[in-house]
Amino acid sequence: MEMLPGQPLPVPTVLTQPFWDGCREHRLSLQRCLGCRRFRFYPTAACPHCASPDSRWEEVSGQGTVYSWIVARKTYDPYWRNRVPYVCAIVELREQEGLFMPGLLVDVDPSEVRAEMPVEVVFEDVSETVSLPRWRPRGAAAGRSG
Ligand SMILES: [Zn+2]
Repeated sequence: MEMLPGQPLPVPTVLTQPFWDGCREHRLSLQRCLGCRRFRFYPTAACPHCASPDSRWEEVSGQGTVYSWIVARKTYDPYWRNRVPYVCAIVELREQEGLFMPGLLVDVDPSEVRAEMPVEVVFEDVSETVSLPRWRPRGAAAGRSG
């Protein structure tokens, strides 16, 4: 697989490596607190809700709804120039109220994005070792039902 020039890539840390490992396997995995059982994103050493340092990684549904979004129409970056207009969304995951993830919303006309639009995660393989999570309207793929 040939990477596009200027492709932004994650720089995993000890804390975030399990998240990126999951993405590589096309699984969305999040930290879940062993104290209060709440999921969290982004990865942190301690739970932002109860401060417990104990957590484990659990796969989540990859389904949610659009909470907010912006449409980027101009860019000075050569990599993103080929993608405008693009939609950057904040998605609230189905698992938990207030559990948000940012990401590109793909396979959608920017004018058709709506608050609470059902979306699902998809993974873009940007290199042999890196896959990035994206969001698309649920049921957007041909032959799939929502
Ligand atoms: Zn907790």
